[in-house]
Amino acid sequence: MDIIEVGGKKMKSNIMFSAVQIQTRVQELGQKIAADYPAGTPITVLIILNGALLFAADLVRHLPHPTEIETMRLQSYHGMESTGIVSLIGTEPVHLKGKHVLVVEDIVDTGRSIQKLTEILNKVGCASVRTACLLDKPKSHTENISVNYVGFSIGPNFVIGYGLDLDGLYRNLPYIAELTPA
Ligand code: 5GP
Ligand code: MG
Repeated sequence: MDIIEVGGKKMKSNIMFSAVQIQTRVQELGQKIAADYPAGTPITVLIILNGALLFAADLVRHLPHPTEIETMRLQSYHGMESTGIVSLIGTEPVHLKGKHVLVVEDIVDTGRSIQKLTEILNKVGCASVRTACLLDKPKSHTENISVNYVGFSIGPNFVIGYGLDLDGLYRNLPYIAELTPA
């Protein structure tokens, strides 16, 4: 257990999923995804930066399909509170027209980011749109969304590590930790 300072408040960091637990689950997800796309189907993995970088890098190595990687940034979060505003930066959605797009996200919280993105991708005419997230906070959803592939369902507490940040830091942790008041 570590103590982290967040805006002057002391928070406890407790390991929720170890590096080994994460790798086991990512492999399972990869195998499930691989089985769902007919062999040989080209897949366009759309990595949502920066959070999904580590998850996606591990996940794509379990896909035997011809796979293309695109990246996009969605901005909706400041500190530990959602601002509710989602803007897209990076790959132009129109370039994904006709492709089998697998959106890879780190975590689904309110569901607004994934909801807005899938709506845009469906509008530009992707051949298919599926979503994979490492973590899901089902109790925090405000949107009526369904994610195709979920690594772990978790409670509402803020988590860091394995790509997930706190104001830009801690993405490098090999495990996922939950922050609770110290
Ligand atoms: P949503 O649009 O679903 O509310 O927010 C999704 C985004 O919020 C995620 O991609 C992530 O950037 C951020 N987020 C939500 N919950 C957490 C959390 O517990 N930890 C971190 N580091 N980011 C979170
Ligand atoms: Mg994110």
